Amino acid sequence: MNSSDSRKSMMRTQQNKLLLLNILSFALLFVVLGTIIFQMIKMTSYRWVDNSLRRISQDTELIEYEAHHLDHPNYPLNDLLRDRDKNHRNPPMQTQLIIWSEGGDILNRGSLGARYYDFASMRLNKKTLDRVYSCSTVDTNDHRLYFRTITSKIKVNHKVYYAQVITNVNQIQVTIRQFKRMLTLCMIVFWIMSLFLSLFLAKRSMRPILRSWERQQKFVENASHELRTPLAIIQAKLEHLFTKPQHTIIEESENIAISLNEVRRLNQLTSDLLLLARSDGNVISINREPTALDEFLNQVIKPFEEVAMMHDKTLTYHNDAHQFVMIDSQRIHQLLVILIDNALKYTESGGHVEVYSYIHNRQWIIEVKDDGIGIKDSDKKRLFERFYRVDESRTRERGGYGLGLSIAKWIVDSHHGTIQVTDNEPHGTIFKVSLPLTK
Ligand code: ATP
Ligand code: MG
Repeated sequence: MNSSDSRKSMMRTQQNKLLLLNILSFALLFVVLGTIIFQMIKMTSYRWVDNSLRRISQDTELIEYEAHHLDHPNYPLNDLLRDRDKNHRNPPMQTQLIIWSEGGDILNRGSLGARYYDFASMRLNKKTLDRVYSCSTVDTNDHRLYFRTITSKIKVNHKVYYAQVITNVNQIQVTIRQFKRMLTLCMIVFWIMSLFLSLFLAKRSMRPILRSWERQQKFVENASHELRTPLAIIQAKLEHLFTKPQHTIIEESENIAISLNEVRRLNQLTSDLLLLARSDGNVISINREPTALDEFLNQVIKPFEEVAMMHDKTLTYHNDAHQFVMIDSQRIHQLLVILIDNALKYTESGGHVEVYSYIHNRQWIIEVKDDGIGIKDSDKKRLFERFYRVDESRTRERGGYGLGLSIAKWIVDSHHGTIQVTDNEPHGTIFKVSLPLTK
């Protein structure tokens, strides 16, 4: 399995874990939500019935009346209540009042009429008094009947009775059951929808992680590759020195100089790598401070005039921005060094490099122009990528690792500016940096 395959399978495992976590979380969420909704609906459905039962059970006048007339003809309770008090809300249909003897016999058989047979199998519950509860019986047709009921103890003519107000709730039960079925169906549909959504989100959220992981991986691979070359040179030179123990330093000065040069390059490379790695982790902060441009540019560019001269090139600069700007002068210094170093590096001897600095549209503009080898349009797009070199063999001999411009890009980005590359006329390159002026 190659590294790309193992990376993919690792990502897939991670994605599946994320998905499973989402599925479980959504399921839990829907179950809790469904249960809460269901309980609330159930509570409100029964509230009216329960209140009505409580009201009737506290109506002593009515209950005593019933207890006195145990065998009056079947006289539905709701009619009785309606007669007694026009302002009462009607009790629920199918509400009955059962009068029990202390011994647990139904006494008002006459008033219950045919309904007596529905209650015949029921027992008197003396334990739960004055509290509404649910119970059920089986009627004469073998149908289960569900009730809400409340029982209270009464005394009529020094005799103890139990009055049980009871309401059939089969209809409510059917409605609740239908609602439950609908709710479950809705929850399942939404849960399935959420699964697709979380699959989509898991894939989407993994994408930038995958991209940055691959970038990091490539960065490490390139970095180790680049570190290997100078290390190999140094090793070879040192081994060579060991084979010539009688040689003087003067005799081996070339080998020592080459090694030293490689050490210098290694030093630069490691600090560039460190800077880029830190910039990825957002560890480096930008310290802006008011900087006088005249003085600053003079300080940065002057030393390069000599370097240019040494290589038979010319470097000139023109600054029209005589003011203070808020920049991280250390980083902008680094940016200018990268651009001027490139301009000199990729210009043949006799070439000219010009640096312009001016203010335009509340932006500080820096232009570095050279009349050197130029850059093809196809390369311009990839120039700011890490380790990208236009012509690897040619640039390597000039000492480049292809990190300069990616560091330049990071510095410009961290100042919220832009960097563009265009062709110079008749040949060569222009790098234009625009940095917004901030207070
Ligand atoms: P490093 O700056 O890390 O030492 P480098 O100069 O090769 O190495 P960059 O500064 O990132 O890397 O530049 C990337 C590539 O862009 C260079 O290798 C070179 O091919 C090309 N390039 C950059 N500046 C110029 C320029 N002024 N003229 C022509 N080519 C350029
Ligand atoms: Mg460079």
